[in-house]
Amino acid sequence: MIGKGLLKGLGITFKHGKEKNITVQYPEVMPYLQERYRGCLEFDPKDCIVCGMCIKACPNNVLSLESAAMPGSKKKQLVSYTIDLQYCMFCNLCVEACPTNTLYFTHHFELSTAERGAIKRIYTPAPGTPVADGESEAVIIPPEALADQVDTEAEAKRLKQVQAMKGAISKGNSKVLAKFVDSEEDASLLLIILQGDEKKQDKMAALMIDDKDKARKVATAFVAKEKRDKAKSEEGKQ
Ligand code: SF4
Ligand code: SF4
Repeated sequence: MIGKGLLKGLGITFKHGKEKNITVQYPEVMPYLQERYRGCLEFDPKDCIVCGMCIKACPNNVLSLESAAMPGSKKKQLVSYTIDLQYCMFCNLCVEACPTNTLYFTHHFELSTAERGAIKRIYTPAPGTPVADGESEAVIIPPEALADQVDTEAEAKRLKQVQAMKGAISKGNSKVLAKFVDSEEDASLLLIILQGDEKKQDKMAALMIDDKDKARKVATAFVAKEKRDKAKSEEGKQ
């Protein structure tokens, strides 16, 4: 029948037209969010005991912290805590891992920014405030005010460490590589691999500073591949 499809479509439209609206006039009207909705990840410096559990739990390297020894004590105190939210996948693993409920999700979901760097949140307690003793009040300096300064300082420090690591590799110091492989023999082999390939050298030096677990995996893979290649070429000669 001609027009059957049109009538069927109109029927569906009328049926749904009578239902209650489930959309809202955002941003004039804010949507209802479930209690456990994960918006923005926040951090409360006064509760942080600088244990690093959150950093180990995060699969995306979103979190980082700087700490220093408290004067006259073996305890550590927080210097700065960074949440690079652009890489966060809101999996909640860090929140679950934190023993002091320092990390938590809020319902704030309007996270878009004009600049990529502005989404990075840096929390810094007031200078000299022992934040881990549970008594002193920590004061958060607004992230916007400190972001640039801390970013530049941290990045400069990191680059210095990466350069030092590269220098050690270039000079043939296999000792710096020994803790990333299983034996001294593997460290020597890794040194030869890295000295022969600048890209690999750059990658390893950066990983050795940024992510030691990953550096170990990559170093082991480099060495294993080199051994396989050597074995194959030996077989070819026979
Ligand atoms: S929610 Fe997941 S991805 Fe985001 S910081 Fe926590 S552990 Fe990392
Ligand atoms: S936020 Fe929690 S898990 Fe992370 S270092 Fe502080 S106390 Fe430890």
